[in-house]
Amino acid sequence: MRIAFLGLGHMGLPMARNLAKAGHDMVGFDVVPAAIDAAGAAGLAVADSGQDAAASAELVITMFPSGRHVLEAYRGSDQTPGLLAVAAPGTLFIDCSTIAVDEAQEAAGLAAAAGHRALDAPVSGGVVGAENATLAFMVGGSDEDFEAARPILETMGRRVVHCGGAGLGQAAKVCNNMILGVSQIAVAEAFVLGERLGLSHQALFDVASNASGQCWALTTNCPVPGPVPTSPANRDYQPGFAGALMSKDLGLAEQAIALTGVDARMGRLAREIYREFADGEGAGQDFSGIINTIRAESA
Ligand code: NAD
Repeated sequence: MRIAFLGLGHMGLPMARNLAKAGHDMVGFDVVPAAIDAAGAAGLAVADSGQDAAASAELVITMFPSGRHVLEAYRGSDQTPGLLAVAAPGTLFIDCSTIAVDEAQEAAGLAAAAGHRALDAPVSGGVVGAENATLAFMVGGSDEDFEAARPILETMGRRVVHCGGAGLGQAAKVCNNMILGVSQIAVAEAFVLGERLGLSHQALFDVASNASGQCWALTTNCPVPGPVPTSPANRDYQPGFAGALMSKDLGLAEQAIALTGVDARMGRLAREIYREFADGEGAGQDFSGIINTIRAESA
């Protein structure tokens, strides 16, 4: 299948490489020359522009930083035609970027109005998952488009879940990451409280990991060194999942909370806590490094 892959950053390049490895006829593009060079060095064919890549493709995958990038690329500007304008009728657009639910629905609406098909398919699993083709995809769109995309997504990932109509892949992502942000803070607070009460890290871990406090933030991403040797705490909080990305995702959760009027106080508080963390030293640290802020802020 002829696939245009636009956005060859930390995630996009390894994803595109996995599709090329599976034998697809790939063409990539990125607006940053260094990313184009890296793609060329990795053996990926690159186009002169996103429009050139999209015009010749049956499938267009985007992996951009934010919803603004996706909507601008789909729409184009006064000077530049959008991807939707140059693609052959009926092209399938799959946006794998993490963007707001309403932006994803707007993108899908624009694609449909231009005579195309569209899915939102954000991922979890990070750069390691992108490299090893073990990503999880959360997909929003029609049954038919989902079935058409499934084999392509399965080439880049291990788990592909159809979450419902347009935007519901992003909805699943935002809800999952809100759970994650809140639970990582709760686990970090519990460890700091345990320290103050004289409880060893290992004792708290041994109890909570086998009791009702058990969760991924504890048993995989344990915020103290020792109990889980592979967690970022053992390597000075190198990500992992960076504080800047958690802050971004909780910002999308905050938008969704405002849109729906849900009384999500924990989600809003986690958004505040991670915004401060990412504005300070935490942007490039794993988000479990929030434990150091909690320690520092404690009396
Ligand atoms: P990144 O910044 O490394 O890559 C994005 C790339 O898109 C950049 O190279 C940028 O130049 C390019 N780009 C922007 N506009 C473009 C356009 N119009 N045409 C072509 N290229 C364009 O970001 P990333 O870490 O690869 O993340 C991509 C998306 O995946 C984000 O939405 C992020 O939230 C999400 N995500 C990232 C991770 C992670 O661990 N990095 C995990 C899950 C989800």
